Amino acid sequence: MKIEQLHELFLTCNGTSTDTRKIAKNSMFFALKGDNFNGNTFTQTALDLGAKYVIIDEVKFNTSKQTILVNNVLETLQALASYHRTYLKTTIIALTGSNGKTTTKELINAVLSKKYKTTATVGNLNNHIGVPLTLLAMSKDTQIGIVEMGANHLKEIDFLCNIAKPDFGYITNFGKAHLEGFGGVEGVIKGKSELYNYLIKNNNYIFLNADDSIQIEKLNSYIKKFGFSETNSNFFKIESVSANPFVTFKIDDILIESKLIGKYNFTNLCAASIIGKYFNVPLMDIKTALENYTPSNNRSQIIENGSLKIILDAYNANPTSMKAALENLSKLKDNTKIAFLGDMFELGNEAEKEHQNISDLASKLDIDSIYIVGENFNNTKSNSTKIKSFSSFNALKENFNSLQIENATILIKGSRGMALERILELL
Ligand code: ATP
Ligand code: MG
Repeated sequence: MKIEQLHELFLTCNGTSTDTRKIAKNSMFFALKGDNFNGNTFTQTALDLGAKYVIIDEVKFNTSKQTILVNNVLETLQALASYHRTYLKTTIIALTGSNGKTTTKELINAVLSKKYKTTATVGNLNNHIGVPLTLLAMSKDTQIGIVEMGANHLKEIDFLCNIAKPDFGYITNFGKAHLEGFGGVEGVIKGKSELYNYLIKNNNYIFLNADDSIQIEKLNSYIKKFGFSETNSNFFKIESVSANPFVTFKIDDILIESKLIGKYNFTNLCAASIIGKYFNVPLMDIKTALENYTPSNNRSQIIENGSLKIILDAYNANPTSMKAALENLSKLKDNTKIAFLGDMFELGNEAEKEHQNISDLASKLDIDSIYIVGENFNNTKSNSTKIKSFSSFNALKENFNSLQIENATILIKGSRGMALERILELL
C-alpha cells in the first residue's frame, strides 16, 4: 500500500496504538517487534479490543480486511509519521541534549500552551518509535509541536530530524551521557549537533544557551539564532537570583519563583522563557506557567519527611548530571547533608574513571556523608572517611539502620536501573 493511501486510512482512525494492554478503540495498531515480543502475534487481540486497522509484516497474520501487510512495520510507522508531519504544516520545535530534555520539553509546553494549541512528547517517548508516535499524535489544529529527541549513538538525531523536520531546535547541553554508544564526549557533541546541522541546512531557527561555550562557538557565524545569557549582551539577558533550593530568576525585572531545584534547572527555565518570548507569550503567562510547574517521576522532587528533606533525583544519572546534583547539594546552607549515589550506566570504557571522579569530587565537597551503591562505585577507592560503599541496594538495605539518618538533607541519585527511589521506603 502506498503511504498516501495508508495516511488516508490513518486519518479515519483514533490515533495509534502499539501495546494491546493500552489500546485505544478505533486506533491504528502497529505490530512492532522487540527483542522479546512479536507484535504480529497480537493481531487478533488488537482487533478484538477494537483496533480499526492492524499494520503487520508477517503474511500469516494477514487474515482480515482490517489487517494491512507491509514489508516492515517499524519503517512504515516512521514513513507515515514523516508524511503526516509534512501534511500537518505545524510548527515543530525539536529538543535534544545529554540532560534536561524532558524537563525542558515540559517547561516549554507549559509556557507555549498558554497561548497556543500544543502537542508535546508524552513522558520520555523520544526514540525512533517515540518520535513517530509523537508526530502522529498531532492533528491539523496543533499549532506548535514540541518533540523530545534522544540518542545514544551517532546519526540517530539526524534520522529523527528527517522524520520530524523541525523548524526550531534547542540543545539542552553537551554532557557525559551514553558515552558508550557515542565513543566519548567528542562523539556526544557531534551527535547532538546533528540537530543544529539539520536546522542550518534548512535555514531554520536555533535557540541557544549563550553561556555554553560549545553552543556559542558552534553557532558563531549562524544568523538565525535567539538565545539567553547571564552575561553576553548580544543575547536575551536573564538574571539568576538564587537556587536555595528553588531556582528564582528575573526576566525583564519580573521575578519568577520556580518549584525546581538545582542550578541546572535555571538553564532549563531560561530556555522555556526565551522560547515563550520568541513566540510572544505574555510575560505574566510565562511566569504563571513556570511557577506552577512541578516535576514528577523522581526527577528533582523535594520530599519533606519528618526531620528529613529529601531531594529525590533517582530518575537517571550520568557524570554531568551527577556532578551538577552534588554541587547543588554542597551549596545548600542546611545542617547535615547526605548523598546516596547509585551506579551510572552506559559509560563503557569510561565507567571506572567516571565513578572514581564522582567519588573524588563528592569527598571534597561540603557534604557530610556519601553512601555509594552498586558494583561500579564499589570498585572505586577513597581515603575519605565520609564515603561508605555498598556493593548493591540489598547490601545497603541490610546495613541501613546502622547509618542512623535523621535531621538531614538527603540527595538520592543514580541510574534508572538502580531504582534508588527504593531508599524512600527505608527512611
Ligand atoms: P533522558 O535521557 O532520560 O530522556 P532527559 O535529558 O530527558 O533524560 P530529564 O529527565 O529532564 O533529562 O532530567 C534528568 C536529570 O538530568 C535531572 O534529574 C537532573 O539531575 C539532570 N539535569 C536536568 N537538566 C540538566 C541540565 N540542563 N544540565 C545538566 N543536568 C541536568
Ligand atoms: Mg527524557
